[in-house]
Amino acid sequence: MIIIMLGAPGTGKGTVAGILSENLNVPTVSSGDIFRKAIQEKTELGKEVEGYLSRGELVPDELTIKVIEARLNEPDLANGVILDGYPRTTAQAERLDKFLSEHGKKIELAINLETPREELIERVVNRRICENSECKTIYNLKLNPPKQDGICDKCGSKLMQRKDDNEEVMNNRLDTYFKQTQPIIDFYDKKGVLCTYEVSVKINRMGTDVAKELTERLKK
Ligand code: AMP
Repeated sequence: MIIIMLGAPGTGKGTVAGILSENLNVPTVSSGDIFRKAIQEKTELGKEVEGYLSRGELVPDELTIKVIEARLNEPDLANGVILDGYPRTTAQAERLDKFLSEHGKKIELAINLETPREELIERVVNRRICENSECKTIYNLKLNPPKQDGICDKCGSKLMQRKDDNEEVMNNRLDTYFKQTQPIIDFYDKKGVLCTYEVSVKINRMGTDVAKELTERLKK
């Protein structure tokens, strides 16, 4: 089962991907997590991509495609994957299609989450993430706070804030999203695999609700 997550930063892609991954037993691959780990470990890749992430710009296609294709070739993904944050440009989407068809696979579902822009900044600024790489549970200090300040409810590890989860970089990330990523929604719509959900406090529907609906649909 190959699922891709689409939507602006802060819509809840990571939350939905995490819950679906657990419920459906399909691993998640997050391009952002791969880049952040490389930066943290100060690898060659990390040095190359650090500037793009800190400015809220996209890492160039050629490098991103190389990194993700290498990951997709690993044996743990042989039966499926939930892609969180990839593809993000038309070039990446086209390459992914080519890669999958060469491997006799295709995308089952492209889940597109939509949230009003004003909510996104507030959400991202209040986002905290479990630093345990095996857990990575996502919290929101206002909407879904941990029981104990700064500590993950699930595993007891410390919570951290992403460096790019601040208002200035988030504005760049949103501009980048609307310019470079939004056009690929059409690409998946034309393929007939797109499924769009509104996620907003205004309609009282959050990522966790979407994940629940999707789990029921995909388990059938
Ligand atoms: P995310 O964790 O998905 O919000 O991604 C964090 C950052 O990693 C983005 O702002 C980009 O700088 C970079 N990044 C993640 N995925 C991609 C991608 N598919 N293409 C280019 N850059 C990416």
